[in-house]
Amino acid sequence: MKITDKLVQRLMIKWWVRLGLEDWRIQWQWNTQDEIEAEQYNASAYTTRWADERAAQIHISSERKWEYPGTANLDDDLERVILHELTHVYFMPQDQPLHTANDMVKNYLPKDVWKHHWDLLVASREGYVQSFVELLLRQDRGKK
Ligand SMILES: [Zn+2]
Repeated sequence: MKITDKLVQRLMIKWWVRLGLEDWRIQWQWNTQDEIEAEQYNASAYTTRWADERAAQIHISSERKWEYPGTANLDDDLERVILHELTHVYFMPQDQPLHTANDMVKNYLPKDVWKHHWDLLVASREGYVQSFVELLLRQDRGKK
């Protein structure tokens, strides 16, 4: 299936509704791979969010070889990546204390100490987000 803005929009709305995020205002846009990697190294998409306003902006690489549905390369699976980013929004209320703690300590700890702990937190967050995504996709795509 050809990747069009309309397809991205359709997948965004599908999971926005299924995750019960209707009270979040979510926008998305294409970015170059360089713009994405400037924010998140090695990523194909990322999300910026404003928890207080329940608003989020999803940035998707316009240079990836996106496929839908499914692909051998998980990073190129458009629906998987959209669901991954929306799952970050879903868990935003639970993530907020991590960001608050990070803001409190970031300027007071030696950079290597802070970075070590922040990397651990981010790795664990990416782990549970991706597990959540895989469970939903398996159910959605009818796999046992
Ligand atoms: Zn992520």
